Amino acid sequence: MNPTVQAITATTGSAQRRAIAKAITLLESTRADHRAQADELLTALLPHTGRSLRLGISGVPGVGKSTFIETLGVYLIERGHRVAVLAIDPSSTVSGGSILGDKTRMERLSSLEQAYIRPSPSSGTLGGVAEKTREAMLVCEAAGYDVVLVETVGVGQSETAVSGMTDMFVLLQLPNAGDDLQAIKKGVMELADLVVINKADIEPAAAIRAQAQIKSALRLLGQQGNPEHMRHDAQQWHPDVIRISGLKGEGLDEFWSCVTRFRDLQTANGKLAARRQQQARAWMGALIDSGLKAAFHQHPAVRASLAAVTEQVTRGLLPPSTAARQLLAAAGFAATAM
Ligand code: GDP
Repeated sequence: MNPTVQAITATTGSAQRRAIAKAITLLESTRADHRAQADELLTALLPHTGRSLRLGISGVPGVGKSTFIETLGVYLIERGHRVAVLAIDPSSTVSGGSILGDKTRMERLSSLEQAYIRPSPSSGTLGGVAEKTREAMLVCEAAGYDVVLVETVGVGQSETAVSGMTDMFVLLQLPNAGDDLQAIKKGVMELADLVVINKADIEPAAAIRAQAQIKSALRLLGQQGNPEHMRHDAQQWHPDVIRISGLKGEGLDEFWSCVTRFRDLQTANGKLAARRQQQARAWMGALIDSGLKAAFHQHPAVRASLAAVTEQVTRGLLPPSTAARQLLAAAGFAATAM
């Protein structure tokens, strides 16, 4: 057996943590020889993956994601789970900055042996960051973390990415009437398998009102027959809305019972397996798309003529469709379907 695979799957404690960190660093490297090693490693790890519960957690900055994840992580570890926390920070892909912040501030959770916390990959396109996070998730699964929490922030695209790699997507909301409408506008509410109103301790009555509002908004969305939402057909799963306080640790039993009910139902009706299969196919498709694009732009014939052809299109001397076909042909792609 590959020694890294052995260290990840069959050791514990600090030896295992070192092996996981090393593997994830390898996956995040942009060097071609590292990528080849990473591919080999992932293939070898694959038989050891797939046994965890993958939970996506999102919400606007300040809603309480870190606080909730820390409280939930400790709660789950007390019940015998091993918890990995990963993140997709869309701000890091644009500015190298960070909306999600430094996860080492989850002090209680990070001090526990049964927790593994890894911040978002710090650069690249959103697709690239999502790919690395997805691969890191597989490494954590192979290491026996049975709950993987993937955190992101409410900016739409990154939420689609997280919902596309997890079994269940949880949206955190504030007990304040305006915010639910925001999520609906951005199409994020449709992604939610569970909506959690956090900070219910501050103004319990407002949280109850928000719960009722979001419930009726979700019912409306369901009735509109959004195809993405159809997986929640009435006799199966209708996304729940619950109230919690991440800070005080209130509502965690209800939260976890919602999650396990959803998982059990989706397992029994085959939707969990179907969702994962569909995600794996979509992941491959996205990588093919981005690989083709990169290959096109790196092709010497394209590099030599793209600027001039673009100029001709700009000046109205060449139809865009003809230009595209010429460039694709120059790069060796037969653009038959265009
Ligand atoms: P994030 O940006 O979504 O990760 O939010 P944080 O977890 O950093 O929380 C933002 C602020 O809200 C912090 O000051 C927390 O202490 C506070 N907070 C988080 N959850 C709760 C909660 O359930 N109740 C109350 N009262 N405050 C909370």
